Amino acid sequence: MNTKVQYWIRPEIQSLSAYHVPDPGKMVKLDAMENPYSLPEDIKGKWLEILRDVELNRYPDPAARSLTEQLRTAMQVPAEAKIILGNGSDELIQIILMAVAKNDRVVLSVEPSFVMYKMIAAYTDMQYVGVPLNEDFSLNETALLSAIEAQQPAVIFLAYPNNPTGNLFDESVIEKVIQRAPGLVVIDEAYHAFAERSYMAKVLDYDNVVVMRTVSKLGLAGLRLGLLAGSEDWLNEFDKVRLPYNINVLTQTTAEFALAHKEIFDSQTVEIRKERTELFNALHAIEGLVVYPSSANFILFRTPEGMADQIFNGLKAQAVLIKNLNPSGGSLKDCLRVTVGKPEENAAFLDALKNVLSR
Ligand code: PMP
Repeated sequence: MNTKVQYWIRPEIQSLSAYHVPDPGKMVKLDAMENPYSLPEDIKGKWLEILRDVELNRYPDPAARSLTEQLRTAMQVPAEAKIILGNGSDELIQIILMAVAKNDRVVLSVEPSFVMYKMIAAYTDMQYVGVPLNEDFSLNETALLSAIEAQQPAVIFLAYPNNPTGNLFDESVIEKVIQRAPGLVVIDEAYHAFAERSYMAKVLDYDNVVVMRTVSKLGLAGLRLGLLAGSEDWLNEFDKVRLPYNINVLTQTTAEFALAHKEIFDSQTVEIRKERTELFNALHAIEGLVVYPSSANFILFRTPEGMADQIFNGLKAQAVLIKNLNPSGGSLKDCLRVTVGKPEENAAFLDALKNVLSR
């Protein structure tokens, strides 16, 4: 390697591998928790009309005021809460950690959970502590509370529901985590649309909680738009490290248009939840698989020991792409995660899976 690169790039960065997303080509794409449905053609036509008037020569509204207020209604953010927007909720995680980062400070989450908490802790030169979940992927109250006591984390991330396990954590344990946390607790509600449970209404009841949402799983993953809600005390500080104009003009215009037609996404969500039940039952009926209940738009399942890679590759060979979590190891050994797709996509996945298993 170039010796200057070797010298100057921090060792923690050199030891990371870049976030890898496989090229799905023409495969049935059930790997990334996307909504499988696109906009109806007539609505798409109206959207294109609106885009015609977008002033690409001008900077966007730096505070995205009009979109922010529309999101407040759409996501039922309390009137007194402040909102900041991010280029995906990934950017909001980065903003939070940039604002608190010091080399001896700890970011705490559970394992397994969303990998970007750990990755961004490394980017921002912070220490990451992952507390293992119980075998059924519920919170390990004792381990979690003692880690909080010992580590005094600056920030705790809890994905609610959790990715990649799909479950909602016990509220009484979350309550204790919030009470014992010396710093901020971020409730990451990326999969809220599929969960029906939320901390949003209570976000101002605590002095150390913020709630994060995204439009990605709703059907707008391509826009890259996330939302952070909480008290002005926290959010005014986070806003200082947000880059100006982080929400581009096409995203602002498109999100406003899409949210004005929110009923379309809501009915797609209802459909996906119905399909989730069907898919869960179908997987559950297959001998040898352990299927974990999900409050999100994906399902985690455990294959017979040592078979996950073979099943994943067998699906891929039949043009079905899901997520192989076996390489993550630990409690995800032998695990695969499938996103709930359209009925015909789920059927293609199940057929391909049965094919592989019958070999
Ligand atoms: N939080 C969780 C728990 C996620 O699973 C994801 C995406 N997989 C994100 C945040 C990031 O979402 P986005 O950046 O698309 O808003």
